Amino acid sequence: MTAVAIGALLYEGKAKRVHATDQPDLVAVEYKDDATAFNALKKAQLTGKGALNCRISALLFEHLERCGIPTHYLGVRDSLWMMVRPVRVIPVEVVVRNIAAGSLCRQLPIAAGSRLQPALIDLYYKDDALGDPLLSEARLERLQLVSPEQLASIRALALQVNAVLGELFAGVGLELVDFKIELGFTTTGDLVVADEISPDSCRLWDRAISDSQERILDKDRFRQDLGGVVEAYGEVLKRVQGVCPEPRVYG
Ligand code: 5GP
Repeated sequence: MTAVAIGALLYEGKAKRVHATDQPDLVAVEYKDDATAFNALKKAQLTGKGALNCRISALLFEHLERCGIPTHYLGVRDSLWMMVRPVRVIPVEVVVRNIAAGSLCRQLPIAAGSRLQPALIDLYYKDDALGDPLLSEARLERLQLVSPEQLASIRALALQVNAVLGELFAGVGLELVDFKIELGFTTTGDLVVADEISPDSCRLWDRAISDSQERILDKDRFRQDLGGVVEAYGEVLKRVQGVCPEPRVYG
């Protein structure tokens, strides 16, 4: 395979940069060490976070694909780069919750730590300036972001992701508390999971630890100033790579 040349910066987000490449149906995503929380009011540089999230995301995307769930992922290159198919991302953050935590408990009288069965799906309009507001179905319809049929496919895909990842994590002693995914359409119109899936976008608790702070292995360590953020992400990687094949190298 000839080496892919990485081209112009197309978009810079809080945790990643997206670049064009010299191939039309290929974009390159660079994972950054930048950590942000509370709509970027809290910021830090966490050395090693980009590489950890790139690798964890790669392993999880490949696992999803093996389980028949389509994603934008094609492979990794070096430690910080992920090669993906270009996708028109739907500006909706899809959050699936298995255990009550975070904003759910701040906004509703639901006790933190209570199990949510069936899993709860919350949709948010992806817009930093507006603070990613919670969407109702009526608001979603008003914005005309997706058709009712597409919404049904998005929900079904999100629940499939939840089932597959929940099982994977449970197998390595981790509880998938909740997670956020983004979905989009490829140039051929297929709905796929895009963006990243990492401890930046999931809540993961060590099942063997009952202490409500010690068990946290995700971005809540950063949000709550608990320290040990990179070490926690490293622990997630160690466990996941113990049960997944090496990620494929692309480009
Ligand atoms: P919450 O609603 O409690 O803020 O978040 C629910 C889940 O979605 C958590 O796992 C959280 O990390 C993830 N999440 C929510 N919003 C975002 C976001 O804008 N970016 C990322 N990376 N994850 C998010």
